[in-house]
Amino acid sequence: MADCLFCKIASGEIPAKVVHQDEHTLAFLDINPLRRGHTLLIPKRHVARLSALGPEDAANYLRVVPHLVAAIEKALGAEGATVAWNDGPAAGQEVGHVHLHIVPRNQGDGFGPVHALFEGGEPEAKEDLDEVQSAVEAALAD
Ligand code: AMP
Repeated sequence: MADCLFCKIASGEIPAKVVHQDEHTLAFLDINPLRRGHTLLIPKRHVARLSALGPEDAANYLRVVPHLVAAIEKALGAEGATVAWNDGPAAGQEVGHVHLHIVPRNQGDGFGPVHALFEGGEPEAKEDLDEVQSAVEAALAD
């Protein structure tokens, strides 16, 4: 897509610190790393949201994740990683091209789990688990 930042990185028009690429995917260092080694993994083809990835695109994209995460952890001396998508502007996605954040983590690094985003959660969300289960099952069957 002409005005997409990550498409321009995928095509080489905008430089990036690329750590992996294959026919379908590109991984490069985040320009404003949350921690040393913070890496983004994108599908080369422009896809704005996870829901727009077809099964084949998804397979080509996701098959890279285990090896890439392990390599980043090894290279950075990390004991783990927080691996996450912000899917959609409501969830904080600022660049409209699917990208997986891989942020190296160490014990005692002072950052919490993803749960820390939700500060205690939404207690009433526990009250209607049956209803939510049915709604998601119905949506999947659609
Ligand atoms: P998100 O908020 O999930 O859309 O994340 C977008 C990420 O892209 C942020 O972590 C930015 O620091 C990162 N970013 C923005 N511009 C660039 C760039 N030119 N090269 C590498 N990473 C970038």
